[in-house]
Amino acid sequence: MSHDPNCIFCKIVEGKIPSRKVYEDDDILAFHDIQPWAPVHFLLIPKEHVTSMAHVEDAHGPMLGKLMTLIPKLARQEGCRPYPEGGFRVIVNTGGDGMQEVQHLHVHVIGGPRPWKKG
Ligand code: 5GP
Ligand code: ZN
Repeated sequence: MSHDPNCIFCKIVEGKIPSRKVYEDDDILAFHDIQPWAPVHFLLIPKEHVTSMAHVEDAHGPMLGKLMTLIPKLARQEGCRPYPEGGFRVIVNTGGDGMQEVQHLHVHVIGGPRPWKKG
């Protein structure tokens, strides 16, 4: 599995940087964002180092399918209210124009009752 020793999210996968975990399996880790925008704000990442959504290839399809499928269950578990009053935002910042700060593919799930700090 590809790994970048200088990547903070790879260090979180390895447990070298602590995180508040939401979910984990062999391929995927979900953890709370350190600077939440809203009452619910967690990130889903592949455990493999994939730099960004711009780097996704056919082989990542099953992992991404599983990752996306986890979102509704984890969103409810973490306190997002039910659709349609509730719901959540799913954001994948990609590259410079996409305002990506951490260069390891991550999916933000942001929700909970408004007002939010951002978004
Ligand atoms: P981006 O702008 O790249 O989409 O978002 C990166 C996100 O990662 C930001 O929301 C930021 O708060 C979060 N983040 C950065 N470093 C850490 C960290 O060490 N731990 C956790 N839990 N979140 C982090
Ligand atoms: Zn990484």
